[in-house]
Formats: sequence, structure tokens, C-alpha cells
Amino acid sequence: MNTETADVVIIGAGIAGASAAAELAATHKVVVIERESFPGMHSTGRSAALFSEIYGSAPIRALSRASRDFLYRPPVGFVDAPVVRQRGALHIAAAAQLDALEAFCALPDVAPAIQRLSATDTRALCPILREDYVAQGALETASADVDVDVLHQGWLRQLRAGNGRLVVDAQVVGLNPIAAGWRVETPALAVEARIVVNAAGAWADEIAALAGARAVGLQPYRRTALIVDSPEGSQSDQWPMVIDVDEQFYFRPDAGALLLSPGDETPSAPCDAQPEELDVAIAVDRVQQATTLEVRRIRRSWAGLRSFVADRNPVVGYAPEAPGFFWLAGQGGYGIQTSPAMGQLACALVKGEGVPADLARFGVEAQDLRPDRFA
Ligand SMILES: Cc1cc2nc3c(=O)[nH]c(=O)nc-3n(C[C@H](O)[C@H](O)[C@H](O)COP(=O)(O)OP(=O)(O)OC[C@H]3O[C@@H](n4cnc5c(N)ncnc54)[C@H](O)[C@@H]3O)c2cc1C
Repeated sequence: MNTETADVVIIGAGIAGASAAAELAATHKVVVIERESFPGMHSTGRSAALFSEIYGSAPIRALSRASRDFLYRPPVGFVDAPVVRQRGALHIAAAAQLDALEAFCALPDVAPAIQRLSATDTRALCPILREDYVAQGALETASADVDVDVLHQGWLRQLRAGNGRLVVDAQVVGLNPIAAGWRVETPALAVEARIVVNAAGAWADEIAALAGARAVGLQPYRRTALIVDSPEGSQSDQWPMVIDVDEQFYFRPDAGALLLSPGDETPSAPCDAQPEELDVAIAVDRVQQATTLEVRRIRRSWAGLRSFVADRNPVVGYAPEAPGFFWLAGQGGYGIQTSPAMGQLACALVKGEGVPADLARFGVEAQDLRPDRFA
């Protein structure tokens, strides 16, 4: 087995590992180890690609606000195509959901970001919504579609331009403490480094077990998405993303077609998630109840895992019981849109610095994300 040395080993080359690696490679020798033959095969390559500053828990919303400038105006040379394309996110409520919409719109950081709409104005933005279904809407104009591949490749390019490299087809099977830090073992390569970053997505608790670190109680949940035809003659590309206020379904334009999801959250073991026919049917049924869309065929469907800990906030920081073992996990359904802030935050905390001032001013606090908050 070949052995090499680095300052930091990052396990997992999804959006989390890639963004942290890109930042760290400016100052450290970084090796990213990915089990699959290409990065982005799991959650990162299966998302709905939404950026919304009002989606998720309060710490997630802070991380999203702190990511916004980067996504809209990435540094020169980071990518050669836009990372985001602005598209409103329209949260809708049926009559029975008006209390839920009211509570959502009253959140202090949500209220300034949205515009309340009558049923008529809501339907004007997305004419397939049924008149007898929608009671009210709330529009976030600053949300966007993210080009996940462009963003992910940007991080990986930045990694290579710095002092870093990506190793694929390499499953981490051993993590042993040594005098200099950690020995990270794959079947063909071992890397010795002072610091290990656990960015293994749904498998992050399994990686902790290899290191003898305490689990954080990560639970992956399967979520399904599918692509169907847009109604003929509709100008669907102009529509906002439409999200049921209880997240029982959402749909959005996608390259001339429509992406639908039933907003499912089925507990799962870490795995290569596959869509279930029932979840696909539920998505179609819920969207058809709310709209005049008639789904005649499913172009394709997929599923991916959204992994959460108990409080649904990410886990970022050193494990106190395992020196040099750093957590970067639990991004749930928000890992794409928060990746600029999460990469920057992880880089600062790995180096032993505090929360960078340009993240703190958006309300990002390390204590919300500490791995030992469950102890
Ligand atoms: C249907 C769906 C819709 C979503 N919509 C959105 C959205 O609109 N906006 C948003 O921001 N987020 C969304 N998400 C969530 C987002 O996709 C995730 O939060 C994000 O991709 C998590 O990134 P990650 O790098 O942590 O995980 P992953 O992309 O899963 O990466 C983890 C990597 O670790 C590797 N790995 C695991 N174990 C090992 C090992 N032993 N050795 C080496 N490598 C290993 C895996 O192979 C994998 O590549 C959605 C997710 C789904 C499924």
C-alpha cells in the first residue's frame, strides 16, 4: 500500500467536502478521498437545486444569507458560467393551511424577504394553480436555481489550483490515531495527516465509528424527485418554484419541463437511494390536486438522501473526544445553498480560528453547530 502525507484529509467529495477542501487548499496540503469514481454521485448530484434564504432552520437561514453574495457574484476565475439564475419561490397555502403560512411569514428574518399575495396574484404567477385550491401565497423574489455542477466543479478546480488533490475510487476503510494525527486507510492508499475532516454525507456516523469518535445521531431521509412534461403552450420557464407551505410537494421549471417532488422524508440507512413508485405517484397526485397539470408520463425519477441530526442544524467542528477529527455533516436539504458559507466556516474552524466576521454578521454562530451539543 502507498503511503503519503498531508496536512488535512477530507473524506467525501460531495459539495461539503469540495467547498471546505477548496478553501483549505489555499494554506494547507489537502487530500480529498472519495469512494465513488466521480464526485457528486450521492446527495450532491440529486438535489432540487434551490437557493432560498428563508428555507430551513434559523441557523440554516443564516448560512444561506451568508452564502448569497458568493453564489450571485463568485470570485473572478472561480467558474466560467453563472452559478445561479434568479427565480422566485412561491410558498402557497390552501384555506386549511393559512395558519401555517401566517406563522412562517411572521418569522423575523422571513418577513422582510417575502411579499404576501392574494389568491389571484398567486395564480397570476403560476396559472396552472387551481382557483379552488390556493387561498394565499408568499413570494420570495431573491431565490434562485443553482447550477450545482458548475458550483461543485468550481470548488474542485479551486482545490486543484491550490495545494490539493482528489483521489477517487478510494473507500476509507480504516482511521487510526498515530503520533502525527491520523492514518486514513483505503484499500490502495494510506494518507497520514494531522487533521481529518468527516464530510461523508449520509455515512458520516460510520466514519466516526472508524475513528472511535462519538456518533452525532445522523439520520438519512430519502427524498424523491421526478421530471414531467410542462403543459403544452405554457410559458412554464417564467413560473416561480411553487412550494406547499407544509412542504407536502413542490414543483419548478426545469429546462423546458417540470421537476416535481412529494417532499417525502422516509428514514433510510446510508445507501445509493432509489425512487419508490409510490412516492412518485404521491408527487403526481399532490401536484395534480393543486394544479390543472395532467401528468401523462414520467420522463425520469430519482431519489437522494437528506441527512439530519436531531435539531436539524449542521454539525461543524472538532470532536472533543477525538483530537484532530473534524465534523462537516448534517446539511440536510440545504447543503448546496449553504456550501459557500459552510466551506468558509469549516476552513476557519479547522485552523482554530473563530467564525469569520463576514459570516457572523449574518447570524452564523459556531455554538449552533458544535458536534458536542448533543452530549
Ligand atoms: C431530492 C433532494 C433535493 C434537495 N434539494 C436541495 C436544494 O434545493 N437545495 C439545497 O441546498 N440542498 C438540497 N438538497 C440537499 C443537498 O443535496 C445535500 O445537503 C448535499 O448534497 C450534501 O452534500 P454532502 O457533500 O454532505 O453529501 P454527498 O453529496 O452525499 O457527499 C458525501 C460523499 O462522501 C462519500 N463517502 C461516504 N463514505 C465514504 C468513505 N468511507 N470513503 C470515501 N468516501 C466516502 C460518498 O461517496 C459521497 O460522495 C437536496 C437533496 C435531495 C436528495
